[in-house]
Amino acid sequence: MSAKKYLLGIDIGGTKLAGALADSEGRLLHKMRHPTEAHQGSQHVLDGIICLAQEVLTQANIASSDVSCIGVSCPGPVDCETGIMYSPPNLPGWGEVPLAEILQREFGIPARFENDANAAALAEHKFGAGVGYKNMVYLTMSTGIGGGIIIDGRIYRGAHGSAGEVGHQTLMPDGPLCGCGKRGCLEALCSGTALSRIIQGEVERHPESLMLKLADGQAEKLAPPVLVAAAKAGDETALEIWETAGYHLGWGLANLANILDPEIFILGTIAIKAGELLLKPTRQALNKFIFNRHIPLPDLVPARLGDEIGEYGAIAVALAT
Ligand SMILES: [Zn+2]
Repeated sequence: MSAKKYLLGIDIGGTKLAGALADSEGRLLHKMRHPTEAHQGSQHVLDGIICLAQEVLTQANIASSDVSCIGVSCPGPVDCETGIMYSPPNLPGWGEVPLAEILQREFGIPARFENDANAAALAEHKFGAGVGYKNMVYLTMSTGIGGGIIIDGRIYRGAHGSAGEVGHQTLMPDGPLCGCGKRGCLEALCSGTALSRIIQGEVERHPESLMLKLADGQAEKLAPPVLVAAAKAGDETALEIWETAGYHLGWGLANLANILDPEIFILGTIAIKAGELLLKPTRQALNKFIFNRHIPLPDLVPARLGDEIGEYGAIAVALAT
């Protein structure tokens, strides 16, 4: 048995850095968070990452020589072979950053890398709702929609590490504008950003909607939490928005099911909050659009790891083979 008993995980987020220490099976032993302070530039964030990793080891009383691998979950494009990060959109001023080299120099430990959606998919597969499944697709559902694809128990990265961009499949070529510059992407129809835009339009048409009252009349509060609360109280406008969002989401998932034939779809943040308000119409549309009617419909469940997905993601990256 290896003398190195521990794994270190680092999750680099736009607003927070999370560090975690786990045993060789991935059981979380210690965790810690710092603000990213991305506005202070890349050197400041890099210093913060080193400092956080050092603090996790010190507080857990573990020597770096007892750690076999550092798993890193990155907020944007990363070359998993070289450990170079490329201009993450929420870390302004980063260009190319050779993080693997920096961590190796600082701690003498090899590092493994995944983008945050792939890391989250690995985390749900290893520790969450995907345990026991071989083929799954995970969708982050917050401001945007990202994805991680696991085939035969391993992450599928594609030829250039770019696989899994499930949010940018086109459903409506003339639909609403997406953050990527194209129109009618899944992300432009049912991400948090899209839902907020839709809610704001619908309450203008339906001023009697409970959502206006729940948002205290403030436009910035017309967002998914208000949509959940209003629908749970029976508000017709809110219920219709969830029906439409589920229809589009189920359509997108059916496209993925027709190509990948997964056993399960696991959906992040918005689906965790909305539950069956979103999952029921999504399941109906998935059933409607799926091609092969002789196979079981893929399971459709909310993600299970909630707020600790970053820590578990980084550790899952260190564990992945
Ligand atoms: Zn797009």
